[in-house]
Amino acid sequence: MNIHFKENKLFFEGVLLEDIIQSHKTPFYLYSQKVISDTYKNLENILSSEIFFAIKANPNQAILKLMKNCGAGADVVSAGELQRALHAGFDPRKIIFEGVGKSKEEIEFAIQKKIRLINAESIDEIKLINKIGKETNAIINIGVRFNPNIDSNTLDKISTGKKTDKFGISIEQLNEVISLSKSSDHINLKGISCHIGSQIQSTAIFGKVFDTMKKTADLFFSCGIVLEYVDLGGGFGINYEKNHNDLDIVNLGKLVSSVFKNVPYKVSFEPGRYLIARAGIIITKILTTKNNGGINFLIIDAGMQTLLRPAMYAALHRVEALNDLQEKNINYTVAGPICESSDIIAKDIQLPMQKSDNYLVIHDVGAYGASMASNYNSRGLPTEILVNENKFSIIHEEENISEIIERDTIPDWL
Ligand code: PLP
Repeated sequence: MNIHFKENKLFFEGVLLEDIIQSHKTPFYLYSQKVISDTYKNLENILSSEIFFAIKANPNQAILKLMKNCGAGADVVSAGELQRALHAGFDPRKIIFEGVGKSKEEIEFAIQKKIRLINAESIDEIKLINKIGKETNAIINIGVRFNPNIDSNTLDKISTGKKTDKFGISIEQLNEVISLSKSSDHINLKGISCHIGSQIQSTAIFGKVFDTMKKTADLFFSCGIVLEYVDLGGGFGINYEKNHNDLDIVNLGKLVSSVFKNVPYKVSFEPGRYLIARAGIIITKILTTKNNGGINFLIIDAGMQTLLRPAMYAALHRVEALNDLQEKNINYTVAGPICESSDIIAKDIQLPMQKSDNYLVIHDVGAYGASMASNYNSRGLPTEILVNENKFSIIHEEENISEIIERDTIPDWL
């Protein structure tokens, strides 16, 4: 990993951690530029397909610019994300707009920006896009996101491809989609997509997705609809526990090239987590220690306002100490400062004996970390810092409480 000891000192890539800690208030995120670009290049080589970064995983402008420079396109799910992608310099032809609920204004904005595809997620949405096309006398390129009814075998809260999930158009409505697209003069159906969930660990599940999408594409062609794009979603699982393997990407690469050999359309993926999760850590300070009911609590300054995943999905993140690792291990529960009992970052973990003002590191937080942070309990959004070899730069300033207060307005009757 990017944190390592050199001559008895702790480094994150080429930067002395102490230097960053001394000049920045915790908690803060640190990202490794090298891990991001190496991961991207490796994935692109192995999959030999187009990659659209699911920017919800980490929409920071610097991260987006880096992804774009690596060659990624962007997968966005709101007009806000679309604006972020455009602002970071993504070519509109390398942006796809998914999302289970898009407003008319959002769709119009995407059309105006001439992005590659708007992926419709309901029959109503296809009709709405066609109506907008008619009103503006335009023919709009769309894709359709199908819900293939495949269980991704992941946590319920991040499953998106079972028939009871809210995402996509049921694969059972395939014929309806085909006839609707044929009878709608203001849309041009150019692509199909699916995304069945996040944190998928088995390539066999992707095998099912690939087969279903291949058959679906074949059916479109047999009905005279020429597809240019087939998007196979994201969801590549990483393993948050120490020394466990991630989804077998090499195998995935072999699978995709065998199923989609010599097809007349472009195949793409839209991973988020896999591209960035491992590149990020949080540095946090211990505010206080206590024993309640026999549990050794470490109360840290990073909580669910900094990293929501543990409270929201019971997600695991490795937590390690930065102090002397020779000391005897103690069983700890690491909790944040927020007034919610669910604000626990890690339960029952072994760490060398800790005291207030020590620092801890939370691993693998590059994806769905800062992007899901909030200012709950009026704690400002955390600082984010990008490290490139021996240089580092703030890429997101800590949110200032006066900025938060200023956004409220008091009506004149008060
Ligand atoms: N594509 C869509 C439509 C999504 O909703 C998501 C995540 O929610 C992704 C891609 C990225 O998923 P992951 O970060 O697991 O790769």
